[in-house]
Amino acid sequence: MKTLELFEKYVIPNYTRYPVSLERGEGAYLWDEDGKRYLDFFPGWGCCLLGHCPPKVVEAVQKQVATLIHVPNSWYQRPQGVWAQMLSERSFGGKCFFCNSGTEANEAAIKLIRMYGESEKRYRILTFENSFHGRTMGALTATAQPKYHNGVCPMLPGFVYAPYNDLEKVAEIVENDKELAGIMLEPIQGEGGVRFPAAGFLEGLRKLCDEHRLILHFDEVQTGCGRTGNWFAYQAFGVVPDTMSLAKTVAGGIAAGALVCKPELAEHLRPGMHAATFGGNPIAAAAGIATLEAIEEGNLLQKAKDNGEIFLKRFNELKGTCDLIEDVRGLGAMIGMELNINGTEVVRKCMERGLLINCTHGSVIRLLPPAILTAEQVHEGCDIICDVISSL
Ligand SMILES: *Cc1c(COP(=O)(O)O)cnc(C)c1O
Repeated sequence: MKTLELFEKYVIPNYTRYPVSLERGEGAYLWDEDGKRYLDFFPGWGCCLLGHCPPKVVEAVQKQVATLIHVPNSWYQRPQGVWAQMLSERSFGGKCFFCNSGTEANEAAIKLIRMYGESEKRYRILTFENSFHGRTMGALTATAQPKYHNGVCPMLPGFVYAPYNDLEKVAEIVENDKELAGIMLEPIQGEGGVRFPAAGFLEGLRKLCDEHRLILHFDEVQTGCGRTGNWFAYQAFGVVPDTMSLAKTVAGGIAAGALVCKPELAEHLRPGMHAATFGGNPIAAAAGIATLEAIEEGNLLQKAKDNGEIFLKRFNELKGTCDLIEDVRGLGAMIGMELNINGTEVVRKCMERGLLINCTHGSVIRLLPPAILTAEQVHEGCDIICDVISSL
């Protein structure tokens, strides 16, 4: 039976899939079952900042998988401890809880915020319209987009929403809601269209949280671990959160997630109150350690920044000559180009020409390219994108 037929017959059809089966990846390239090669500017939906099958991660996983695959979290194991230290030292000196995905990391944050507020009967969490925090019921309720709630209501109680970048509205809620315990947001909205915080917005949230003893949680699942050319996006804005969730690139493409919290908050996630069977397993930890090392050894934070500037330059040039483009924005290896038409055709035509990209929110072309791209590869892909958009 052909691959597509296997899916037709045996796999739940909850994804819209391209009629292509991918077989092998190496660096910035992917090959499908028919041997066609693609340049990948959206590898692993943002999980593969190091490109496909990064040698250092492959080697670390191969070694670890033959040594120890899994042990429960009722024991110690060195890789998880070292991984936590490395994340802590590159962020705000926090402590880590490990899980297997972004949504799980946000669930851990929701629980931590509730247990933090428990003694004062505070539990509510403020999140933002157009956000994306994951698909499990807590993180999905935090995701203030009705289109993802329709059909699975009722949602979890205890959330309140505000428009993104509307500091006045946030201040009003914070002043009046005595049951509020935290604010959760993506420092740059990813799925919502690569949308940036307005000047002073994150600083304003930080101030409100300090004044009202609220936890400020940054969902850095998409922006974290080198994506923006900083270890974490908050570092680009100079506003430090109290807790932060990570996944996607955190282990170089191996499934993993993490919650990092300031040390003084760690006690709130007390023994018996939260767990993940596979969380921080030796393989994920080995991959996570290798990922951070590979970013440093390859000088990939700088490379993400340099590539990001080429992307912005190319797309801004195109914007000057093409009136389909409304806006171009980005930071490091996270780029959005907002069109005034639906972007589905752009994605399809690029794929035909051997380039993989993404379109989010209908009209925002989103690139989460690997930081290992050479300048030539950046230009090669930009040529295709510019050509495709110009020809529409
Ligand atoms: C992808 C994403 C998630 C969900 O991560 P999963 O690993 O799919 O659960 C959560 N938050 C943000 C900002 C994301 O981009």
